[in-house]
Amino acid sequence: MTIVDDAPLLGREGAALVDLNRLFAAGATADLSTHLRAHGAFDPRAVAPGLLRELERSGLSGRGGAGFAAWRKLEATANAAGERVFGGSAAVIANGAEGEPRSWKDAVLLHNAPHLVIDGLLAAGAALGTSRLYLYASEARLDTVRAAVAERQDARIITLVASADTFISGEASAVVNAIENHDARPRDHVRRLSESGLRKRPTLVHNVETLAHVALIARHGADWFRGAGTVRDPGTRLVTVSGDVSREGVFEIAGDMRVRDVLAAAGVDRDSVSAVLVGGYHGTWLRGNQLDLPLSAAGLAPAGAAPGAGVLIVLGRHRCGVAATADIVEYLASESARQCGPCMFGLPALAQRMSALAAGRVQRDAVGEAARLADSVTGRGACHHPDGTARLVRSALVAFADDVEAHASGRCTRAEA
Ligand code: SF4
Repeated sequence: MTIVDDAPLLGREGAALVDLNRLFAAGATADLSTHLRAHGAFDPRAVAPGLLRELERSGLSGRGGAGFAAWRKLEATANAAGERVFGGSAAVIANGAEGEPRSWKDAVLLHNAPHLVIDGLLAAGAALGTSRLYLYASEARLDTVRAAVAERQDARIITLVASADTFISGEASAVVNAIENHDARPRDHVRRLSESGLRKRPTLVHNVETLAHVALIARHGADWFRGAGTVRDPGTRLVTVSGDVSREGVFEIAGDMRVRDVLAAAGVDRDSVSAVLVGGYHGTWLRGNQLDLPLSAAGLAPAGAAPGAGVLIVLGRHRCGVAATADIVEYLASESARQCGPCMFGLPALAQRMSALAAGRVQRDAVGEAARLADSVTGRGACHHPDGTARLVRSALVAFADDVEAHASGRCTRAEA
């Protein structure tokens, strides 16, 4: 994985007046004095009383994948903590685990702007009246965070926890489990984490990018945040563009920017693109006119897609979508926590079907069999890993229908490079 020192920043067509260099305004690998010069002084206790309503007005959605309204998670945790007669206060976890192999945005953010994430974590903690604060990320990412924490007295209350380098380690309940039991496997979602999370405390788990935006909103207000993006997708977001491109990288874009504009700004020639996997390995393949859709929850909804953690994987014209999907499904099957039936049996079977299809070694109704297997694992795991894998397979069967048919009859229409 490449960590860029200076994240390239993108604008949106017609939005020249909007400053999109927000999260990286302090520049590369900013120390505390540079951070404070760029963003101004910050007192988490001073912003805490109005933070919830300011987040609600901002419209900030979570940047970790699920896209929940940031203020709702904070409110739910605050309500659960307020209802407690006995027991301690809430916990807040900044999640930078980023298990998705094609996502580097959290790594780039923690490398370049750790103080912004720390500010957001302190602000959320102050709003909940708790000093139980955790930052969870891979050991490689914690170096810059450790250095940042050492620079400031107020951050000494944050406990840094190294995450496992697995696909599933960033799932919210796996994060709680890892911090509590050193076991980064998801828990049954019988109770919401906002009610009973870390050691049964009400627990707020926010992605590190979400918390960096919280820090900016706490400083500059909801109206400033809404100065970029659109009404339905305000603010900016980080995206990771990778695959068959001349330059892979992390970019800060305005909300609702069209997929094709993101690609163009990243230097990708649209004529060279066969498809784009949006939302990462649990995402959806988009082709043709679907690339005109905006990269937001509402914008991608007509294609049954979602931005997820802002991952765009470009598949070049010379590459086979069936083979690319089979490789990903094989990886996902190997990354399950093997504690639920659909992961232990369903995903390996699905991977086997997709690999056979990609190789043209097919039996009768191989496509129908893959679709049935995808349906059979959906909704049956303790977490959404089987559902996400099934979504990817269904999407490939539709997006690459011609290629799938060719493979099913034993021919591949694209020579692999
Ligand atoms: S569904 Fe799979 S990844 Fe999720 S908890 Fe069960 S075994 Fe683990």
